[in-house]
Amino acid sequence: MLIEECKKRNVGLIAMKALSGGLITNAASVFSFLRQFDNVVPIWEIQRETGLDEFISLEKKPPLLDETMWSIINKDRTELSGDFCRACGYCLPCPVGIEIPTSARMSLLLKRAPYQGFSEDIFKEKMELTNYCIDCGHCKNHCPYKLNTPSLFSKTL
Ligand code: SF4
Ligand code: SF4
Repeated sequence: MLIEECKKRNVGLIAMKALSGGLITNAASVFSFLRQFDNVVPIWEIQRETGLDEFISLEKKPPLLDETMWSIINKDRTELSGDFCRACGYCLPCPVGIEIPTSARMSLLLKRAPYQGFSEDIFKEKMELTNYCIDCGHCKNHCPYKLNTPSLFSKTL
C-alpha cells in the first residue's frame, strides 16, 4: 500500500478529498480508517459549521475501527470502486459551460445523497447541458484521476 511505502521512507501524505467530494457520507468510518495511519493528514472538505462540529467531536472521542466501521467502509468501497469523480474541479473550465463536478457525479449523488434536491429543475438544466459536450478532451487531459469524464455523464442520462 502506498501509505505504508511512504511510512517506510519516513514520508507523510496529505489525503485530499478524504470524503470523496461528499460521496462518503459516514464521517466516523473515514475518520477511524485514516486515523490508523500516523503519517496521513486528511483534508476533510468541511463546508458547514455542523460538519466542523462533527469532526471536533470525532477528535475528542475517536471512534474505533471495529467490525461495524469495516462493514461501512467495505460497502463504500464496493459502491465507489472504479471510475468516479471526486469533485476537485481541476478539469474546469469546460468550453460549453458544463458543470463537470456535479454532472459527472449525478448518478452517485442520486444514489448516495438525499436525492430530492437533485431532482429540482436547476440540476435537470445542468444535466441537459451535458448533451452539448463537444468532446474537446480538456477535462480528460486535466483530471488527476485520469477519468473519461464525458462517459460519466451518460451514466445518469
Ligand atoms: S470534453 Fe465535454 S465536458 Fe469535457 S471539457 Fe470538453 S466539452 Fe466540456
Ligand atoms: S472529472 Fe476529474 S478533474 Fe474533474 S472534477 Fe471530477 S475528479 Fe476532478
